[in-house]
Formats: sequence, structure tokens, C-alpha cells
Amino acid sequence: LQRLLIVRDISRLIRLEQVRRDFVANVSHELRTPLTVIHGYLSAIDADDHPELAELLGEMSRQSERMQRIVEDLLTLSRLESQQTSTQERVPVAALLQTLIREAEALSAGRHHIELHDNTQLDLLGSPKELHSAFSNLVSNAVRYTPAGGTIALRFDGDRQRGACFSVSDTGPGIAAEHIPRITERFYRVSNSRSRETGGTGLGLAIVKHALALHSAQLDIRSELGKGTQFSCVFDPQHVAERQPSAT
Ligand code: ADP
Repeated sequence: LQRLLIVRDISRLIRLEQVRRDFVANVSHELRTPLTVIHGYLSAIDADDHPELAELLGEMSRQSERMQRIVEDLLTLSRLESQQTSTQERVPVAALLQTLIREAEALSAGRHHIELHDNTQLDLLGSPKELHSAFSNLVSNAVRYTPAGGTIALRFDGDRQRGACFSVSDTGPGIAAEHIPRITERFYRVSNSRSRETGGTGLGLAIVKHALALHSAQLDIRSELGKGTQFSCVFDPQHVAERQPSAT
């Protein structure tokens, strides 16, 4: 009887979790269109002759953009949660790293020293879209949390037998040890105000964790307060392949 009761409790929990996921996905989906309309109309209002109104409209427009980013991240998270595994496509790592470097440079706008260390002849196997999304969130965090003058380094290491590791390290403020176990929970922030100032949605690391889980990959976080942080994505050999000679 006790076993039966446990099975019943577990199936109830699974059902509740499904209801929660559907609810978040539906609400996010429903909010998308009205937000697009509000943002569009706000941007269309011409208040050039009224500086005070222009300032208000500017702030409303920034806030509606922020809401749009939150809704998009919630939809991404729902999509990731509904998947069991990723596709097994070849992900050309050299091209992916170049894209990430371009993104980092655009976001940094010359305020940081950005390095790339591509130390292998390996590609990854998985979903190009989900891996880009995971890596890109780590790069954007490093740029957003590291003060001007800091260094951000992207590395790709590993070998065919042991697997591969993509890491992003920064010389930013670091994360205190007590926060690290909870940092990938949605909306968990070390400092609310700092995160808001930097334009974060509070969902970036939750997206990273889910995207990596689909690839059976681990997220390893090492950080020292006042020195910086390193996020590493560790892939097993099944998700690694020899790099193919480029077509050009
Ligand atoms: P956010 O949108 O708030 O950045 P994330 O899920 O991406 O949300 O990150 C969660 C929290 O982890 C952030 O609010 C921030 O406090 C901390 N964090 C993430 N990356 C870094 C980093 N590179 N350096 C310092 N703190 C970080």
C-alpha cells in the first residue's frame, strides 16, 4: 500500500509540474503580441518638441523591451524543458567561437580586453541553436558583470577520448560561494539592482543549465570574490567529433 501511495504522489507531482510548465508557456505566449504592439506604438510617438515627455517615453520603451526579453527567455526555457534530448548535428566550433567573439565585442563596445583560445581540432555534436544560446548567455554575463578594463577569455579545450570543454572566464566581481548552488535557478540573483542595471532577465543561467542538460553536459562554476568567475561547459566524448576541414 505504501508503495502505491508513493507512486500516486509521484504521478501527482509530475502532473502538477506539467500544469506549471503549460501555464508559464501559455502566459508567455499570450503576452508576446500585446507587448510587441505596445513597444511599436511607443517607438512611433514623436515627442521631439517635448523633452520631458520624450524622457518618459524613452523609459517606457526601455521597460517594455525588458518585458519582451523576459517573455522571450521564458518561452526559450519552456521549449527546453519540453525536450528530452537534443538533435545530434555537427556544430562547427570554429565558426561558433567567431560568432561569440563578435557578440562579445559588440556588447563590450571596446570596454574590455577579449581573448579567444581555441585549443582543439574538435567540433561538438548536438543542437547548434541550443548550444549557441547557452554559450552566448555565458558570454553576455561575463561582459555585463565585468567592469570596464577587465578581461574576458573564451576557451575551447579537450580531446576525442575525454571530451571537450567550452569555458568563459572574466575578471569581474566574482560570486560568493554561498550563492553558487542556487545561481542557475530561474530569477535567482546575487544582487537584484546590479542585475537590473545590466539588463538581465534573471533567466540566463537557467537557460544555460537546461540547454546543457539536453547534451548530457555539466556546468562547472569557479569563482573568487574580487577576482573573477569561470563558467565551464563540460561535454562527454559522445558529443565530440574531429573537426572537418573547412570548405574554403
Ligand atoms: P541575470 O539576467 O540576472 O544576469 P542570470 O541567470 O544570467 O541572470 O545570472 C544569475 C545571477 O548570477 C546574476 O544576477 C548575477 O548575480 C550572477 N552572475 C552571472 N554571471 C556572472 C558573472 N560572470 N560574474 C558575476 N556574477 C554573475
